[in-house]
Amino acid sequence: MTVQWLTVLGSTGSIGTNTLDVVARHPQRFRVFALTASRQVDVLARQCRQFRPRYAVIGPAHEQALREALHALGVQETEVLSGPQALCDVATAPEVDAVMAAIVGAAGLAPCAAAARAGKKLLLANKEALVVGGDWFMRAVHQGGGRLLPIDSEHSAVFQSLPEDAQTWPDRVEKLILTASGGPFRTWAPEHLSAVTPQQACAHPNWVMGRKISVDSATMMNKALEVIEAHYLFGFAPECIEVVIHPQSVIHSMVQYRDRSVVAQLGTPDMRVPIAYGLSWPDRMASGAEPLDFRTLGALTFEAPERARFPGLFLAWQALGEAPGATAVLNAANEVAVEAFLEGRLRFDRIHAVNEATLSRLRPPKLDGLEDLMALDAEARAQAAQQVRRWQQ
Ligand code: NAD
Ligand code: MG
Repeated sequence: MTVQWLTVLGSTGSIGTNTLDVVARHPQRFRVFALTASRQVDVLARQCRQFRPRYAVIGPAHEQALREALHALGVQETEVLSGPQALCDVATAPEVDAVMAAIVGAAGLAPCAAAARAGKKLLLANKEALVVGGDWFMRAVHQGGGRLLPIDSEHSAVFQSLPEDAQTWPDRVEKLILTASGGPFRTWAPEHLSAVTPQQACAHPNWVMGRKISVDSATMMNKALEVIEAHYLFGFAPECIEVVIHPQSVIHSMVQYRDRSVVAQLGTPDMRVPIAYGLSWPDRMASGAEPLDFRTLGALTFEAPERARFPGLFLAWQALGEAPGATAVLNAANEVAVEAFLEGRLRFDRIHAVNEATLSRLRPPKLDGLEDLMALDAEARAQAAQQVRRWQQ
């Protein structure tokens, strides 16, 4: 078996640590080339002791602290780098076969796009990168000639349920059905959402995840981002992508064919399953997840998402109906609003107000490449910050 060299961008987060958990189960298949984090020095140092990467990348303010931590742990072979260029360098180095993109937010776009252009096998958890980069990002993947494999559980499920030949999808497939858990407030009366605290929003019933995606799951903006992600990944028209709430999170998504046959992918809610699939594709390997026990599973239920409770979800189709770049505006607004909510500066139910106002106020200009996208992202963030200040009063 040939060994694959792996770079994990965002290795200290929820997806990053799950990735390393899977990798540790297959030492004969994978070697770690680089690990990266924004500021979690101790976690990154311990990961370096276990996986002995050639490089560790951390935010500039923590470079020296990481060197000292590695020295204290007796790790000599790992070189410490920092800054945005270093992220791109470790994602594109010739030794690297595959890149796990597990940074949160638009901050991950540049290294993701660099890996794509370099033709790496790109394992994409960082959905915001695709929501911001859109068609431009997909062109970078095609030009690079590498393979993009979705790690988001819904998109992994769709990928596993689609016919193998992408050319025949439009003739054979009628729609994609993305499932959503509905998050912690699925049964709450909408008028109670104004008092939600960050701690309540981050307590997801089925998945343990980073704070940003946990809040997105509670507003269902996560599903809005996933509708956009599915559109760009698989090329389906927005009206051919449907969302259904499925509180048990056992069916991870489905594909409805022309003959009305529906193919679904099922499993325990454990991100190591789609991570292992992406790492081993087209093969399969152990993930460490528990098997589904159908004898004790009980009922699988489904319901339609209500607009009054989850207005954010519907912004996905609105943004996809506007000029290219609108999805980047929506993403930037949401990143700003979620951060303000987590810092106690914005009410939970006003995340949507900020997103909606930013999306309707900002008309994206004609876009040509990464610089234009990052400029639009910055402009949308400034507009959203203004909206946050307005709602603070
Ligand atoms: P997390 O917050 O737990 O981890 C984020 C990682 O990115 C950390 O290692 C952090 O150090 C790094 N990071 C954060 N900001 C950075 C920056 N500005 N520059 C460089 N590095 C930075 O997040 P997570 O839950 O692991 O999610 C990561 C991505 O995967 C997100 O895009 C999320 O939507 C997606 N995703 C997560 C899950 C899940 O179960 N957690 C499921 C599907 C998709
Ligand atoms: Mg998902």
